[in-house]
Amino acid sequence: MSNAEHPPYLWHNHRLVRWEDATAHLTDHWWASVGAVFEGIRGYWNGTDGETYVFRLDAHLERLAGSMRLVRMDNSFPPEMVQEAVCGLIRANAHAGDVYVMPLAYSTGGRSFGSVGERVTNMFITSRPTTSSLGEAHSLRAGFSSWRRIDESSMPPRVKAVANYRNSQLAASEAVLAGHDSALMLNAQGKVTEGPGSCVFFVRGGTLFTPDLSSGILESITRDSVLRIARELLGLRVEERTVDRTEAYLADEAFYCGTAAEITPIAAIDHHELRGGVLGTVTQQLRDAYHGLVRGTDPRFPEWRTPVGLAGQQLRAAQSANRVPW
Ligand code: PMP
Repeated sequence: MSNAEHPPYLWHNHRLVRWEDATAHLTDHWWASVGAVFEGIRGYWNGTDGETYVFRLDAHLERLAGSMRLVRMDNSFPPEMVQEAVCGLIRANAHAGDVYVMPLAYSTGGRSFGSVGERVTNMFITSRPTTSSLGEAHSLRAGFSSWRRIDESSMPPRVKAVANYRNSQLAASEAVLAGHDSALMLNAQGKVTEGPGSCVFFVRGGTLFTPDLSSGILESITRDSVLRIARELLGLRVEERTVDRTEAYLADEAFYCGTAAEITPIAAIDHHELRGGVLGTVTQQLRDAYHGLVRGTDPRFPEWRTPVGLAGQQLRAAQSANRVPW
C-alpha cells in the first residue's frame, strides 16, 4: 500500500484522526525522530471466527513502555489505553485481513539533548494491510555485514529505538549491494547477534540455538514465542548462548524471526548453502506451529491473541441492518 492509498484513519494523541488531517509542525521533526521509540505489531485474520487477532499485544505494549522508560520519555499513555487504541484503529479501518500496526512515541519541545523535563511525549499509531508470508515458499540468502551490531556500551540494542535502525540500515544495504538478500551482524566480540530487523535461529544436529539476550539483540517477542513453541509444544533441545560465526556456516538450518519477518528460512550464509536446503524440517515444524497459533486455528496459548472485536462489530452491523432474524 503506497502513501497515496491509505486506510481512512490513524490514531494520534488520544484520538482517531482522518489520515489526511494527521499533521505535525515541520519543526517538531528536528530531534523528535532521534529520540523516538516504536513497536511493530501484527494482527492475523481468522476467517472462521470473522475476527482479527493481535499477536502478543500485551508483550509489545510492555516493550514499548520499557523503550520509553529507557530513553527517559514521560509516558502518559497507559498500556490499557494503547491496547484499546490499537484494536479500535483496526476496527475503524475495517481490516478484515492480516494487518501490521505501528505505534510510535516521540517527544517534542526540548531545547537540548539533555532537556528531559521540558519535553512533551506524543504518540501515533498507524495500521496497514500486510499479508502474512507464513504459507509461502520463501527463503533468503544472508551475508555477514562488516558493520558490527550496536553495543550496550554506547546504544541500547534490547529496546526498539528509532536511532538504533541506522545500524540496521547500514548492514542491510551493504548486504544487498554485496548480492545477498539480507544481513546478519556480529557484535564487537565477533559473536553472532541478529539481522537488521529480526532475530536468528540455527539448527545443528537436532539442537535449536540462538544468540542469548546479552549478545546485543532486541528483546524479540517472536524469538520468545519460538523458544516457547520449541520447548513446550515440540519438545526440541534448545540453547540460548553465544554463537560463533563458523557455527552459522555449519548449521543444518537457519531462519530469521520477527514480527514482520515471521519465520523466514535462510537458505545460505555467505554462500555456504545450508544442508537442510531452503526449508529444513525443524524450521518447517516451527513455522507451521507458529502460523496456527498467531491465526488462532490452533487454540493453544489463547493469551497470545487479542481479538479486536471485528466479529462483534460485523454482527452488530448485520443486526442493525436487520439482516439477521433475531
Ligand atoms: N531484532 C530487530 C533489530 C528488530 O527490529 C526486530 C523487529 N522488531 C526483531 C529483532 C524481532 O523482534 P520482534 O519479534 O519483537 O518483532
